[in-house]
Amino acid sequence: MGEAQVSLKHLFRVFTKPEHKDSKLAQIEQHLSDNILDFLSQHVVTKKTSLEEIEQDFSDSRVPESPEFVSSHAESLLNKLVAHSVNTYSPTFIGHMTSALPYFHLPLAKLLVGLNQNLVKIETSKAFTPLERQVLGMMHNLIYDRSEDYYDEYLHSARHALGAFCSGGTVANITALWVARNKVLGPKDGFSGVAKAGLASAYRAYGINNMGVMCSKRGHYSLSKAVDALGLGREQLISLPCPEQTLRPEEALAAGKRYQEEGNKLLAIVGIGGTTETGHVDPLDELADVAQELGCWFHVDAAWGGATLFSNQYRHRLKGIDRADSVTIDAHKQMYVPMGAGMALFKNPEDANAVRHHAQYILREGSKDLGATTLEGSRNGMAMMVYASLHIFGRRGYELLIDQSIEKAKAFADMIERHPDFELVTSPTLSLLTYRVCPASVQAALKSTEGTARHKLNQKVDRLVVNVQKQQREAGKSFVSRTRLEAPDYPDGSITVFRVVLANPLTTHKDLAAILAEQHLIATGTKVWRALTKSERSLTA
Ligand SMILES: *Cc1c(COP(=O)(O)O)cnc(C)c1O
Repeated sequence: MGEAQVSLKHLFRVFTKPEHKDSKLAQIEQHLSDNILDFLSQHVVTKKTSLEEIEQDFSDSRVPESPEFVSSHAESLLNKLVAHSVNTYSPTFIGHMTSALPYFHLPLAKLLVGLNQNLVKIETSKAFTPLERQVLGMMHNLIYDRSEDYYDEYLHSARHALGAFCSGGTVANITALWVARNKVLGPKDGFSGVAKAGLASAYRAYGINNMGVMCSKRGHYSLSKAVDALGLGREQLISLPCPEQTLRPEEALAAGKRYQEEGNKLLAIVGIGGTTETGHVDPLDELADVAQELGCWFHVDAAWGGATLFSNQYRHRLKGIDRADSVTIDAHKQMYVPMGAGMALFKNPEDANAVRHHAQYILREGSKDLGATTLEGSRNGMAMMVYASLHIFGRRGYELLIDQSIEKAKAFADMIERHPDFELVTSPTLSLLTYRVCPASVQAALKSTEGTARHKLNQKVDRLVVNVQKQQREAGKSFVSRTRLEAPDYPDGSITVFRVVLANPLTTHKDLAAILAEQHLIATGTKVWRALTKSERSLTA
C-alpha cells in the first residue's frame, strides 16, 4: 500500500520543485492546507482516543524498508497525527501559554523551510544574519532603550552581540547564566578562567566552596536545568518561599549574605517577569539593588511576560527590567510567533564574548557569525517570523493585544469572584490567574477552621479540582490547566488550583462564562462535591 519504487530517479523527483501548479505535489499541498484549516475550527481534542491507543500508531521501532509515495504518507499523517493533535487555536483552550497564531505565519513558514538557511554562519545565512541582529537590537531597545548611536555602533558589530536568538526560554536562561558564570569566574592572575580550566579549578582559584543562583519558588524549572547543565548543581539553586507569589527583596538579601558568608559565591539573582504558574512579577527594581549589594549578576526571566513592554499602559509592571544584566524573552509566547523562538538579551554587548567560540572552518575570528556566541549550533531562520510579526503588528498592534489580554483576565477574575462556588486564588498581574471551585458553604467553613481540620478540608477540595479539571479535559470542549501552590490564605500548605492563561485574542467573555458553567456542572455531579457539602454540614453542626 502506497509503496513507491526504489530508484534514484524517483528520489531525485522528490527533491525537485513541482512543474505544474496542478501537479501531484501541489495537490497534496492544497489538501494538507485544507485539512489544517478544518482541524483548527474543531474542538480542543477532536477525537476521544486515549494516549495508549495513539501510541499503538507509533509503536514500530523498525525503519521502513521501502520508500512511500508522498501522497499516501501525507494521508497517513492526517489520520495518525493531525486527527489526534491538540487544537491550541481553540478560543476555549485557555490552559497554557501556547495559543492561536496569526494565519500569516503559515505562508511565511513555507519561506523559512523553502530557503532553509542556517544561522550558525554567514556563509549559509547572508541576509538572515543581519535580520536576526536587527531583531535582537529591536528587543534590546524595547528593554534597555539606548540611543540611536549606541545601536549604530553595536547592532552589526563583529565583536559584540546584543543578545542570543535561541529555540526558547530554557536555552535563553541557560545562555544568560552561562555568560554570567564565565564572566564571574573569568581569567585572573595566572588562572585561565572557568571556560578553559573548568569549575573545580575555578572554585580553587576564587577560593569558594560553591556557586549558586537565587530565585523564588515560582522560578521556572529551566533554572534548575541551567544550574545542573552549568555544573553548579541543583542543590545550589536557592529557591525562596513566596506565599505572596513574589521574591521578597529583604529575604533575598539576607539569604544571599548567609550563602556568601558560608564561603560560597552567589552567581545570580533571577527576577521573574511574569511567573509561569501565576503570572506575578517580582519587584525587579528592588532586586536589582539587592544584586548590586551582593555583587552578583541580575537576570530577569521574562520569557512569558516580556511582551508587556509593548504596552505603554502596563510596561511599568516590569519596572527595573532595564537594570538586568540579561533578560530572557520568548517570542513564541505573547508575541504570537510559532514555537521555537526565544531570546536572551544582554545589557552589555561585550558580555557575550565570555562564551565566544571559534573554529577554523566556520566561526572564524572577526566574522559576524552568530554561532560563535550561541549555545546551539545549526539554527533555522526563526528570527524572520519575529521580524515579520514586529512589522505586521507594530508596537501599537502588540500593545492592543497585550492590553486586551490583561483586561480580559480582569473580567474573568470578576466573574470568578461573583460566583459563590468559585474562589479566586491569585488575581491577574498580567493575563494569567488561578482559582478553584469550592462550594460556598465550604468556603465559609474554611474561614472558621484551622490546623488539621482545615488541611483535611482543603485536601478534599483539591480532589474536587483535580476531578473537574480531568473531566473537562476529557470532554474535549475546553481546556484549563492545573497546578499546586501556596496561597496567601493557606500559607501552611499547597492547594490545587485551576490555571488560566488568556492568550488567545479570539477568546470571548461568553467563552469564559461557558467554561465556568461547565466546571460548575461537572463539580456538582461529583462524589467529592456531595461528600464535601455533607462533611461541611457535620463540621459546622
Ligand atoms: C515558558 C517559560 C520558560 C521556558 O521557556 P521555553 O520556551 O518553554 O523553553 C522559562 N521561564 C518562564 C518564566 C517561562 O514562562
